[in-house]
Amino acid sequence: MIKYCLECDWQRSTTDGDTEKEVSEEAIEHFVETGHTVESLRLPPPVVLEN
Ligand SMILES: [Zn+2]
Repeated sequence: MIKYCLECDWQRSTTDGDTEKEVSEEAIEHFVETGHTVESLRLPPPVVLEN
């Protein structure tokens, strides 16, 4: 899952080693601190095997 800001370069992703809970909390924090709109994007499963 990626959370990103529509109004600045803020971005957090579970691919950086954070849990979804941590990413969500940081997104809320960013919104509370800045009033910016944070969008979320679901990632595909981490491992996608294509033969
Ligand atoms: Zn922002």
